[in-house]
Amino acid sequence: MLRVVVLGAAAGGGIPQWNCGCPVCLKARSDNPELRSTQASIAVSADGAHWYLINASPDLRQQVIATPQLHPKAGQLRHSPIAGVILTNGEVDAVAGLLSMREGSPFTLYAHERVLAILRSNSIFNVLGENNVKRRPIEADKAFEPALADGSAHPAGGDAAGDTLGLRILDKGSGKYFYFLAACADVTDDLKSRLSGAALVFFDGTVWRDDELIVQGLGTKTGQGMGHISMSGEHGAIESLAGLDIGRKMFLHINNSNPALLAGSDERKELEQAGWQIPADGTEITL
Ligand SMILES: [Zn+2]
Repeated sequence: MLRVVVLGAAAGGGIPQWNCGCPVCLKARSDNPELRSTQASIAVSADGAHWYLINASPDLRQQVIATPQLHPKAGQLRHSPIAGVILTNGEVDAVAGLLSMREGSPFTLYAHERVLAILRSNSIFNVLGENNVKRRPIEADKAFEPALADGSAHPAGGDAAGDTLGLRILDKGSGKYFYFLAACADVTDDLKSRLSGAALVFFDGTVWRDDELIVQGLGTKTGQGMGHISMSGEHGAIESLAGLDIGRKMFLHINNSNPALLAGSDERKELEQAGWQIPADGTEITL
């Protein structure tokens, strides 16, 4: 049995973002605190006792405080259920939380060699000494088995560079698996065939439409320009994954510009009618 906890569902900056006055951030600060969300990361466990984080977000310390599953075992002076961290990329949103894990508890770090090289080149990550924190390279399309859970790595559709990995996490006991694809620019036929049969897919939900940052005056980049497919529209995530045999579909890495965050919005209704969910921080799913 796999247990998955959504530690955070938001894209970089979180909701509300410290310097943002967009409609979603304004509501999150005032009348709608339920909109608040920390930056994207999930925790997964095959035995309920040892947990693996997928990415270590800048909000990791707050996420661990809010997640009882990740608290030290009762009666132990020093302990953490976090047995490892799997990094899907080397960007600040995925690695900054590692700096909140520097107090000497052992865990294993799994990442592509390119990401491990980024960590090695930045001396601030030396706070994670090799005696406590083992660093293990993982490769695209090659299965790896963490010490106490099961997992294999696959590339996110279309990205052959190894900069960003998608992950397929398999429970060897039940044969069930889920996907973590928080950054995906394009849904290829190959990706569709991989996703088909998954019990759960976490998918890139950064923007509703490709030009929303520009239209809202929040930025100059399109979703595609940042490597993110849009939720809506022709070739968007909702349309591209429609009809595939997927148990549950959840968007993750949702930017505060995305109108689907607002309950009751037309965009949210369309998303839910298509069988998708936006998980609240702390949501636990059992597979
Ligand atoms: Zn905002």
